[in-house]
Amino acid sequence: MDSSYDVVIAGGGPVGALLALALGESPLSLLHVDSAEAGTGTRAGIGTGAGAERPIALSHGSRLLLDRYGVFRRIHNTPILTIHVSQRGGFGRTLMRADDYALPALGYVAAYSAIRAAMAGESKSAPLIGRVTAWSDAPAGLSVSLQLPDAGHREVQTRLLVLADGGASEMRASSPPKGAASAGVSRIRDYAQSALVAQVQAEKPHRNTAYERFTPQGPLALLPNDEGYAMVWCTRAEEALELREMGDRAFLDRLGARFGARLGKFVACSKRQSFPLALRYLTAGTAPRVIAIGNAAQTLHPVGGQGMNLGLRDAWELAASILKRLSVLDQPDFSAGFMAQRSADRRAEISLTDSLVRVFSHPDRLVGAARGAALMAIDTLPRARRLLAAAMMYGLRSGR
Ligand SMILES: Cc1cc2nc3c(=O)[nH]c(=O)nc-3n(C[C@H](O)[C@H](O)[C@H](O)COP(=O)(O)OP(=O)(O)OC[C@H]3O[C@@H](n4cnc5c(N)ncnc54)[C@H](O)[C@@H]3O)c2cc1C
Repeated sequence: MDSSYDVVIAGGGPVGALLALALGESPLSLLHVDSAEAGTGTRAGIGTGAGAERPIALSHGSRLLLDRYGVFRRIHNTPILTIHVSQRGGFGRTLMRADDYALPALGYVAAYSAIRAAMAGESKSAPLIGRVTAWSDAPAGLSVSLQLPDAGHREVQTRLLVLADGGASEMRASSPPKGAASAGVSRIRDYAQSALVAQVQAEKPHRNTAYERFTPQGPLALLPNDEGYAMVWCTRAEEALELREMGDRAFLDRLGARFGARLGKFVACSKRQSFPLALRYLTAGTAPRVIAIGNAAQTLHPVGGQGMNLGLRDAWELAASILKRLSVLDQPDFSAGFMAQRSADRRAEISLTDSLVRVFSHPDRLVGAARGAALMAIDTLPRARRLLAAAMMYGLRSGR
């Protein structure tokens, strides 16, 4: 291990891994550190007793990014040909079809671990297992502290530290661990909701349709995959806990009551896992020579499935900026410039997902009627539908 690197990346999730792949062919010296083994996560399975793992809907835009590095072809996935959006207890629904946009698919459902494993399969070297625990200013850049299972505490110097260490980023915290500088100022909105994740089967086959159903308690998504549907059911934290612990039959009945009869009866499910939900994002610039990307910069509610898609765009744009401006990575305005460059895309996604959660969970009947009218308008106005579909496929600031 060297004592000095151009770039240190903390985090080997999909976002950190994409950045490492994109910089892999450059002349930069790179240290990539991850606290977990690649490919972690249990496989969902009905009847195996295994807990379900988080399903990811990759957008068409993410596919194009991953294709550049040969990663997408390695990801076992199910194409989404139709997206069906509706609200429980209200009129209005909208349908989007891949055919309408002359695309092979609107998106692709894959397991989180499958995405990580595909990235690991394409990269020339695995990340070093360990944690980045702190950093401080040093004469020629930053001094970064590492905790390595085999070598204990180590210090390395770098020109640029990239935090891709996910939603639980210690460094982003407003009170980071002792000795660590903070990556920036975080804003947090606790939704008091959890996402319950499971693999479920229904009487009717999915026909490559993804369902997003808004209910007053939170959105419920059913995503098509090999084994039926990957479910992401967002609901009040107490209800999620109850649903996680109850028997399978009672759970399937509750799911049917919440989702409706569109797919017939729900007939089987795996064990459930729950994830607490909150919006967390950096509001002020990161420290000079430190850049946060992916969930370390913004952790979104999973409604609309945009968190990873946004993070992959962060990684891709950061790689392009680094490669264009190799000689000025350690200039204080490099990190501020990147933050400014990404702010429109990030702000648009944050406000869209936040508004979806709040407007569609609003109990007022008038608001419900307005939601129904909006869904109908989207369904009947081709331009509105095209804009929504483009936002889901490429991101809100795609300009397509
Ligand atoms: C239920 C659910 C469903 C979702 N569905 C979708 C979806 O359909 N579409 C979508 O786009 N997004 C979805 N998301 C969001 C998506 O999972 C995240 O946006 C994405 O995983 C973020 O990737 P990341 O690489 O930034 O962070 P992570 O995937 O969290 O990876 C962070 C990595 O950093 C490592 N790490 C942590 N601390 C350190 C440290 N100090 N030093 C070194 N390494 C460290 C961790 O071990 C981990 O390997 C969903 C999220 C949830 C909870």
